[in-house]
Amino acid sequence: MFGRKQPDVLVAGAGPVGLYTALSLASRGMQVEVVEPATARASRPQACALHARSLGLLEELGLLPAVLNRSVRVRRVGLHDGPIRRAEASISRLATDHSFAAILRQEDLEEILTREAERRGVRLRTGHRVGGVVQDGDSVRVRVETCAAVPVGRGVQHIDDVVLGTREVQVPFLVGADGKRSAVRSALGLGFPALREPRDFVLFEFRTDPDLGDEIRIGVEPGATTFCWPLPGGYGRFGFEIAPDAAAETDDPERLGEAELRRLLATRAPWFRGRVGPVRWRRRIRVASRLAERAGIGHVWLVGDALHETHPAGAQSMNVGFREGRELAEALAPGAVPGALLRYERARRIEWEGLLGLELDVMPRPGAAQFIGAHAAQIVPSLPASGRDLEELAAQVGLDLTLPIAGRSVMSAVPQV
Ligand SMILES: Cc1cc2nc3c(=O)[nH]c(=O)nc-3n(C[C@H](O)[C@H](O)[C@H](O)COP(=O)(O)OP(=O)(O)OC[C@H]3O[C@@H](n4cnc5c(N)ncnc54)[C@H](O)[C@@H]3O)c2cc1C
Repeated sequence: MFGRKQPDVLVAGAGPVGLYTALSLASRGMQVEVVEPATARASRPQACALHARSLGLLEELGLLPAVLNRSVRVRRVGLHDGPIRRAEASISRLATDHSFAAILRQEDLEEILTREAERRGVRLRTGHRVGGVVQDGDSVRVRVETCAAVPVGRGVQHIDDVVLGTREVQVPFLVGADGKRSAVRSALGLGFPALREPRDFVLFEFRTDPDLGDEIRIGVEPGATTFCWPLPGGYGRFGFEIAPDAAAETDDPERLGEAELRRLLATRAPWFRGRVGPVRWRRRIRVASRLAERAGIGHVWLVGDALHETHPAGAQSMNVGFREGRELAEALAPGAVPGALLRYERARRIEWEGLLGLELDVMPRPGAAQFIGAHAAQIVPSLPASGRDLEELAAQVGLDLTLPIAGRSVMSAVPQV
């Protein structure tokens, strides 16, 4: 490709999951190329919590020291009902190699992953995107478009990609890590149905003092989840679920001003006593619960937001996306066990149907506070963990997760790494 040996795997998208997947593939001896339309790394605060289990995945690639250098560590999760603290879970008690979760900005994480990808010989092609896909026997033909971002429209302008040229490449495998509007998923003809009503959140990042300590706080009231993560440098990230509004996504400071932030803090986070310093980032987002009809077909597979979408409170999308990247790399590597891709497909469906609350049976444990049982459906997906760790954190706050059909733990059915 591009005048040198074709890669073994082409990855569409250099978001955190695409980069992690590329590194996992490269660490198994494969030639990897990543195409990414953006030519500059945008400041994208977005996902910032790394689950304890994800730290092990980054450690495998030798990236843990760089990640921890730019992170704050959190060891507890507090569950709040207005001003009352109802329960607490300890990340330190999880059976993982790391007794804490780490919070860092997505752009810092992407920078670390990009640097390592370059060091390991992953070819990163910015200004290129996947435009079309045709499966062809034992390989896949991919139309790669050279593109540039240009302002378009009169009056209110927006940035769009224009195509400057195309070329066709043939590779053994294509991985679609190209986000929720995935061109790869569309090219496979896979639907991305909304499984629940969309939910709206406003997110603020602001400097605060005193710092927020070593815990994540989750506030739960009917239909409205609130979350607070401490960030490096004395900042905090607050997310407030709000009533749906058709005019959803915005970062307009007029609509998301300081008065609105103070109002939300006073009504939804009465436990917060810190100072509200300068706001670094604000955003109103609408998120659906979506799962692609399949995790892939033949020689084309999906990971991360291309495969699923969920709300941000538990930081599931990116963290589970890392596990997907690793599992897929193992399934695509030379010498993979037969059926590994089918197992990938099956495990993704089981795990996400659980995380999206479709196949998950949540039961309050004997003696659990009534508040916990009443808000179980909001609490579980807001906990910063997945797999067995999610079961463990849920148990600590008084909830059992079970898969009714098999009568066994849903998360035990998911391979753990
Ligand atoms: C405003 C906002 C706030 C968020 N807040 C949180 C939060 O607080 N907590 C949390 O956990 N998560 C949050 N998320 C979600 C989180 O950012 C994502 O789950 C995470 O980025 C997923 O990573 P990804 O690599 O799968 O996809 P992405 O980060 O979306 O990366 C996809 C990449 O693919 C590229 N691409 C697109 N089209 C093509 C193509 N045709 N060919 C090749 N490449 C292509 C894109 O340019 C992009 O770089 C937020 C998301 C948004 C938008």
